[in-house]
Amino acid sequence: MSDSARPVGGPSLPQERRLVTEIPGPRSRELFARRNATVAFGVSTTLPVFVTRAGGAVLEDVDGNQLIDFGSGIAVTSVGNSAEAVVGRAAEQLQRFTHTCFMVTPYESYVAVCEALAELTPGEHPKKSALFNSGAEAVENAVKIARAYTKRQAVVVFDHGYHGRTNLTMALTAKNMPYKNGFGPFAPEIYRMPMAYPLRWPTGPEHCAEEAAAQAISQIDKQVGAHNVAAVVIEPIQGEGGFIEPPAGFLPRIAEYCRANGIVFVADEIQTGFCRTGDWFACEHEGVVPDLITTAKGLAGGLPLAGVTGRAEIMDAAHAGGLGGTYGGNPVACAAALGAIDTMRAQDLAGRARKIGEVMTSRLRALAERHPQIAEVRGRGAMIAIELVKPGTLEPAPETAVKAAAFCHAAGVVVLTCGTYGNVLRFLPPLVIGDDLLGEGLDVIDQAFDSMS
Ligand SMILES: *Cc1c(COP(=O)(O)O)cnc(C)c1O
Repeated sequence: MSDSARPVGGPSLPQERRLVTEIPGPRSRELFARRNATVAFGVSTTLPVFVTRAGGAVLEDVDGNQLIDFGSGIAVTSVGNSAEAVVGRAAEQLQRFTHTCFMVTPYESYVAVCEALAELTPGEHPKKSALFNSGAEAVENAVKIARAYTKRQAVVVFDHGYHGRTNLTMALTAKNMPYKNGFGPFAPEIYRMPMAYPLRWPTGPEHCAEEAAAQAISQIDKQVGAHNVAAVVIEPIQGEGGFIEPPAGFLPRIAEYCRANGIVFVADEIQTGFCRTGDWFACEHEGVVPDLITTAKGLAGGLPLAGVTGRAEIMDAAHAGGLGGTYGGNPVACAAALGAIDTMRAQDLAGRARKIGEVMTSRLRALAERHPQIAEVRGRGAMIAIELVKPGTLEPAPETAVKAAAFCHAAGVVVLTCGTYGNVLRFLPPLVIGDDLLGEGLDVIDQAFDSMS
C-alpha cells in the first residue's frame, strides 16, 4: 500500500501485532539518541519506540512495527487511541477556535463537560465542577476548595497513594523515588495514614478492612484532630502505588468518618474513573458518594483535561476568581471529552471493562497457579495487576517485574510496572480492545513467565 492509501490511524488502523524489526528498531534507536541529547534526564521512557500513529489498541512505530497497547498511555486512551468521536469533535473545534480562556470569554463545551460530570459522578445532590489541565492540578484545586469550605488546613492521605508531581501533590504522594527525592521542602499539614493493603496486612487479609480503617481513624483523631482536617484524599483503587484495592468496608468506613466530622471526602478517581474499573467510577462499587471527585486521564480520550466535581455548596466555597488557569477546560480538550463520553455511553465501555476484567483475571490466575513468583492477581475491570515476589515469601521481586516487562516489550506488547516496591506489573488496555488482541497480549505475558522458569 502506498503511504497515502493507508489508514492514518484512529480506529481504522489494523488491530494486529506486527513486528518487522527488533524492538526498538533502528529508526527508533536513532531518535532515542536525539532525544537523549536534548530532553532532560529526569523525563524517563518505559519503552523507547517512537510512535507515528495509533488506533484502537495498537501503536505503530517509526520502523513499521505494530504493538499491542496494554498501557493506554497510563489509563488515558480508554476509548481507544484516536477514537473517531474524539478526533472528529476535536478537529471540528480546532477549526472554529483554539482558545479564548474560559475565564475571559466562555464557550458551551466547558459547560457541557461540567453537566456531564454532574450527571455521571456518584450522588444525586446538586453538583458543580471546575476544569483544569492535569490530574495534579485537579487534586491541588480539590484541596484549595476543601480548605476554603471547611476553613481548616490539614489534609489526610494514605500509604502508597499517588496524587501527582507538583509541590502540594508531591507532599500528598507517598513514594520518595522517583517522585519526591531531592525536590523538597514539601507543603505542610499533610498526614499519611495506613492503607488497607490486604496482601501485606500483618494479621491477614480478612482483618484488613476493619483494622486499617480503625488505625487510620484513631491516628487522625490522636495525631491531627478531626476538627483540624479539611479533606481526606484517597484513590478508591490505588494506581501508581500498585493497584491496591482496599477490601470491602474500608472506603465506606472512612467516608462515614468524614461525614460525621465535617471532613471533605475527596475520591481521586483520576486513574480509576471513566469506566476503567467496570463502573463510571470505582467508588460506586461500594455505593460510596464522595463530596468531591477528581478526574483526568480517561476523561478526554488523550487530550489534557481534568476536573474537580462535587457538592455545589463545597465547590462554591472558593471566592470569585479563586479558581482557574489560562488553559483549564481548553475548548479542544472539552470537545474531545464530549466525544469520549459519547463513545463510552454508546459502546457501554463500563460493561466492556467488566468483560475484559473477567478474561484477564481468569487467564492471569491460571498463570499464577504455574508461577509462584505471582503472589496475587488483583484489580477491577480493565485495571488489573500481578504482584511479584520471591517464591514462597512476600519479599518484593522488582527484578521479576522488570524482566517480564522487558520480555513483553521485545515481543511488541506495551505493559507498565508500578508499586511502592516496583514489583507490580499492571495492565490497562483500551476498553475497545478486541478479544483477539487481548488474548494475544495475554499469551505474550504467559510466555514472559514461561521463559523465566
Ligand atoms: C495520574 C494521576 C494523578 C496525576 O495526574 P497528572 O495528569 O499526571 O498530573 C493524580 N492522581 C492519580 C490517582 C493518578 O493516577
